[in-house]
Amino acid sequence: MAFELPELPYAYDALEPIISKRTLEFHHDKHHAAYVNNLNNLIKGTEFEQADIIDIIMKSDGGIFNNAAQVWNHTFYFDQFGKDRAKQPKGQLAEAINATYGSFEEFKEKFTTAAKTLFGSGWAWLVKKTNGSLDIVQTSNAENPLKEGLIPILTCDVWEHAYYLDYQNKRPDYLGNFWDILDWDIISGRY
Ligand code: MN
Repeated sequence: MAFELPELPYAYDALEPIISKRTLEFHHDKHHAAYVNNLNNLIKGTEFEQADIIDIIMKSDGGIFNNAAQVWNHTFYFDQFGKDRAKQPKGQLAEAINATYGSFEEFKEKFTTAAKTLFGSGWAWLVKKTNGSLDIVQTSNAENPLKEGLIPILTCDVWEHAYYLDYQNKRPDYLGNFWDILDWDIISGRY
């Protein structure tokens, strides 16, 4: 069964001015869609034709892995946003962030540094380890923490296509504003 591009869970202009309608039109309708189409073409006639996306991520490599991981990463990224949503982590995630980083503010600084210093294209992640503790990790290109046995909680896409139309080369400005559109009800529910 072919994979389908999930619709954005909000309007294209819902994240303005932090992420513009134009950026979402390209990022979702062109980039995310291309990963879905590429994946569907690449898995035809392979052992992955009927597999679910996590199975493909865990077991594939090369072009199939790159496109499957990018499909999953983008769905995970787009799902965590909303305007005027919960601004702070809740419950067990809030406790884990305070226990690991001292405060939400300290966590934000460390995560921002990871996203800022990632060289080239990739993703910054807050992940949960199997023992429940938290970590911040960087991955290059399509790489994804699932393959390392880590559970993704929050991600930031730092491929230039995520911010270039709105911020050009100013990745730190995108990262500074990123916090204002996160929905911490959704993110806290992932812990
Ligand atoms: Mn992207």
